[in-house]
Amino acid sequence: MDGMNSANARGRALTGNISGTVVVVGAGIAGVSAAIWLQRAGADVVLIDRKPPGEGASFGNAGVLAACSVAPVTGPGLAVRAPFLALDPDFPLFVVWRKLPAIAPWLFRYMLNANEGDTRRIAGALTGIVSDTVQQHRDLAGNTGAQRWLEDSSYVFAYGSRRDFENDRHVWSLRHVAGFVPEEIEGEAVRELVPGMAPEIGFLAVMHDHGYVRNPGEYVKDLAKSVQGAGGRIVRADVMDFDLSGGRIRSVGTSEGRFDCTTAIIAAGVWSGPLMRKLGLQIPIQSERGYHILYRNPSIRIPFPIMVSAGKFVATPMDDGLRCAGVIEFGGLQEPPSAAPPTLIRKLVAKTFPDLTFDEVEEWSGHRPAPSDSLPLIGEIGKTRVFAAFGHHHIGLTGGPKTGRIVAALAAGTDPGINTAPYAPNRFRQRR
Ligand SMILES: Cc1cc2nc3c(=O)[nH]c(=O)nc-3n(C[C@H](O)[C@H](O)[C@H](O)COP(=O)(O)OP(=O)(O)OC[C@H]3O[C@@H](n4cnc5c(N)ncnc54)[C@H](O)[C@@H]3O)c2cc1C
Repeated sequence: MDGMNSANARGRALTGNISGTVVVVGAGIAGVSAAIWLQRAGADVVLIDRKPPGEGASFGNAGVLAACSVAPVTGPGLAVRAPFLALDPDFPLFVVWRKLPAIAPWLFRYMLNANEGDTRRIAGALTGIVSDTVQQHRDLAGNTGAQRWLEDSSYVFAYGSRRDFENDRHVWSLRHVAGFVPEEIEGEAVRELVPGMAPEIGFLAVMHDHGYVRNPGEYVKDLAKSVQGAGGRIVRADVMDFDLSGGRIRSVGTSEGRFDCTTAIIAAGVWSGPLMRKLGLQIPIQSERGYHILYRNPSIRIPFPIMVSAGKFVATPMDDGLRCAGVIEFGGLQEPPSAAPPTLIRKLVAKTFPDLTFDEVEEWSGHRPAPSDSLPLIGEIGKTRVFAAFGHHHIGLTGGPKTGRIVAALAAGTDPGINTAPYAPNRFRQRR
């Protein structure tokens, strides 16, 4: 109990005081985190989502609190390799080809970052958002029903061999710079640590002091309940427009009427793009669709989340089964889920855990919010008192709590304790 109270005390110290009503758009991990830290700073919060809390990308992710995940997808040389990878049916990168013309301008900007300098710059900036994630989740969820879903654990990267691990040296060099060095496990010791893992997996890079969420959807719902418990309102509505008379936010227009406010937070994940257009900003953001397969009642219980590097999927021991999540699919927001990605995940899982049996499987897909420069947007849009809190790509569960805390501090006019320049939403406007 003491620890929880001190978490709240730390929150107050960081976020100061804020008066008036704050509308938070989006009840995913970013939105509920912002709502909680804003309440701790004294704000009256209205949390608006067209769905129940935690049903966007925050529902179906791999649950990993990936403190060491500082490397962006756009590593050096990706622009050359990507077309071949997308055409390889056994590689977990998919493109809905008829959508390519619409996505191409974003893809071009995205690939411009696939070089050494930008990769290191992005990794440096991501470190500030993700590296203390376990503590950030504890601070956020302390004193709420959500903390029951948090688990301390290692995060393990599985490779065929030491050579495969060494071939990944660029990513590991970025993690090293961020302060993360793995323990190396080889040969039969792999199966002692993870019984049931295929003999083809001969090397594990074990990152200690990480964590995961045993049910991300329920976690976000419990966090949202705590917003309500602290006097916040949760409204089920579609946010449609903003009144910015006099250059500052006055109200947010929704399918259920207008909500007056002195501050608004846009935390609508990948759907923040269309909302930003209503605010006059063109943000280059796309969906990187991902999929998961949940194996109910699995015969294998792995002790921690494992990123299987060959298949680029993460297997996580969730409360309701073994969740295997991964794949990147570019196809925009309107397309229905495709058949090939979950089929590939199943194939990769069968290869990794050959003896796995289970009762039934469930499939899910969701949209990772992907700005073209792989950095989240965190900060005020001009002087409007509208703040962005979205765009976390593959690390939104990891980075959501800190993002919410930063945005609450900025809204309260206090020191967020981090240089927010790399995340400033205006970086895109300045380029135009
Ligand atoms: C397969 C997969 C695996 C992943 N694994 C991990 C992982 O292990 N660790 C990790 O850190 N991250 C992971 N991620 C990424 C992570 O899930 C996302 O980055 C994160 O959930 C984004 O959270 P969010 O709150 O920004 O968006 P969301 O959770 O998508 O929430 C946005 C909310 O806004 C609402 N909304 C949108 N538009 C409107 C509107 N106009 N009006 C009202 N409401 C609106 C939506 O309904 C939604 O509820 C994974 C993602 C996928 C797809």
